[in-house]
Amino acid sequence: MRLASSGRSRYGLRRLPSQRLYPPSTPVIATRIALLLFLPSLALSLFWLGARPDWGMAPAAVVGWYLADLLSGATHMYLDYRPCIPGVGLDRLFFYRGSRGSADYAALKNQIMARIGPFERLVFDFKIHHPQPAALGRRSFLYLARSPALFIALPLALALNVACWAGKVPGWLGVGAAVLLFGGGLAQYFHGTLHREEAPWDTPWFLALPRRLGLLMTPEAHERHHATLTRDFSTTSGWSNPLLNLVFGALRRRGMISPAGLEPT
Ligand SMILES: [Zn+2]
Ligand SMILES: [Zn+2]
Repeated sequence: MRLASSGRSRYGLRRLPSQRLYPPSTPVIATRIALLLFLPSLALSLFWLGARPDWGMAPAAVVGWYLADLLSGATHMYLDYRPCIPGVGLDRLFFYRGSRGSADYAALKNQIMARIGPFERLVFDFKIHHPQPAALGRRSFLYLARSPALFIALPLALALNVACWAGKVPGWLGVGAAVLLFGGGLAQYFHGTLHREEAPWDTPWFLALPRRLGLLMTPEAHERHHATLTRDFSTTSGWSNPLLNLVFGALRRRGMISPAGLEPT
């Protein structure tokens, strides 16, 4: 089992002393290859689309960014409240009283995670984020990108390449789709940036500028979710939070969402 070294990644994120300790659901090499294909494929689609600009591209980009945020929030809401598989010991990890950096915790986590599949690990990851939110902000870019969303977005991005190359997709639709895939595929990375422990003047420009423009939400805005766990589930721009807050309220009133799902049993 390999422990990653501590320090800063080239993306300015501090790494945790230990990366994923239990058997990973996605090998690191697969994530590296996916990223190497994903980001250039989106750039290539935009390059081809740029050869025939139209007035619909700008509003389509805004809609794509909104939909990426909506997807981040809807997924987050579902995974927060979906009950964990009971009786496998996840509650022992969640309510662990000692140090989560201890060898005892790591051994317990390895033992329990080996009993459940990748989807159940993902559900648990969302639960355990609530009692220890800062941990996500110390993860590397690669760790945060290593989410199922990237592996769903990648084939769609490659399909968009083919459609753009063949001239089969209207410019506005191609731009909207590329923006949606970018935001959707890297949703967990954007969530992680909201938990970085750094002074505002240390925030890199590629996060500070979009926050200033309202394209990315701020850590303060995301804190409203952690303070309540009943609102503001979206984690990219935050534009869709008003809509999702209404949806959450309606689901709660109908008894379709229960606070019992927030903690493993
Ligand atoms: Zn949450
Ligand atoms: Zn969070």
